[in-house]
Amino acid sequence: MARIAFIGLGNMGGGMAANLAKAGHAVRAFDLADAALARAEEAGCTRAASAAEAAGDADCVVTMLPAGRAVLSVYRDAVFGSVPASALLIDCSTIDVASARTVAAEAAEKGLAMVDAPVSGGIAAASGGTLTFMVGGEGDAFARAEPILSAMGKAVIHAGAAGAGQAAKICNNIILGATMVATCEGFALAEKLGLDPQTFYDIASKATSQSWSMTSYCPLPGVGPTSPADNGYKGGFAAALMLKDLKLAIAAAGDAGASVPMGAAAGALYQAFVNGDRDNLDFSAIIQMLDGKQQAN
Ligand code: NAD
Repeated sequence: MARIAFIGLGNMGGGMAANLAKAGHAVRAFDLADAALARAEEAGCTRAASAAEAAGDADCVVTMLPAGRAVLSVYRDAVFGSVPASALLIDCSTIDVASARTVAAEAAEKGLAMVDAPVSGGIAAASGGTLTFMVGGEGDAFARAEPILSAMGKAVIHAGAAGAGQAAKICNNIILGATMVATCEGFALAEKLGLDPQTFYDIASKATSQSWSMTSYCPLPGVGPTSPADNGYKGGFAAALMLKDLKLAIAAAGDAGASVPMGAAAGALYQAFVNGDRDNLDFSAIIQMLDGKQQAN
């Protein structure tokens, strides 16, 4: 079992750190928020006074932070200067591809192995240990990361070189965002045309418009399997996080010279939705704006 420094114990990181402790790893945890640290202690982790202290004698550092700027500052200001040379660094945050490649290159310059390993799956998957990890980095580093990530997830997939995990994550989510918007539009149109929602679901779920957004996460309450729609669109994957990922994808597309008109349209719609103070609602709640029952601001 490994000594693991876990930095960033929020909605996702809290559950992930708990699963590492449950698997028998010695987890030394750090977060800027005292309440998050207290929850980690209750879940079997040891509290560290700083990110540098957590990383001090670690075999492995795992970070789960809000954005690229936080990741760069935690590694540059705390981890690189304190971690043993043999340690493996794993960043599970969703961040821009350029920052992921920069921090991996800086780690390599210091002789440290690093992977980017963003996740698919929300807060329930983080606490349930059923995340999917998409991993970017050298083969050796992936082989070392795989057993640690497996304690927190159901699938760990090597996507390619440094930054490839982040690339896979935003490409997945640009498809997801556009598919959710299209699913919401279709169901809203079906209702306006007088179709019963359940009847339309029974047809579409067995026809060519079937998708994960429809049959695993239906945006209508009472239709399909239980989803955030059945809980007032609370919990699940916040619209603000979908907007964050769409912005990352659109920016990466700009850098790569790729055309993403559907992703850009989904991004504009999620921006309008979030501007209406609905950032904490699940991303499927965008149906409330698209069906005309609740107007965009
Ligand atoms: P969160 O805001 O709940 O947690 C982030 C934590 O990081 C907070 O507890 C914060 O105090 C801490 N933090 C910030 N800066 C820090 C620093 N410099 N040092 C130490 N701690 C610091 O966010 P989350 O929902 O847990 O998301 C974390 C990452 O996972 C994000 O990149 C997000 O895009 C990604 N993600 C989230 C979900 C989801 O459903 N929430 C799903 C997939 C991926």
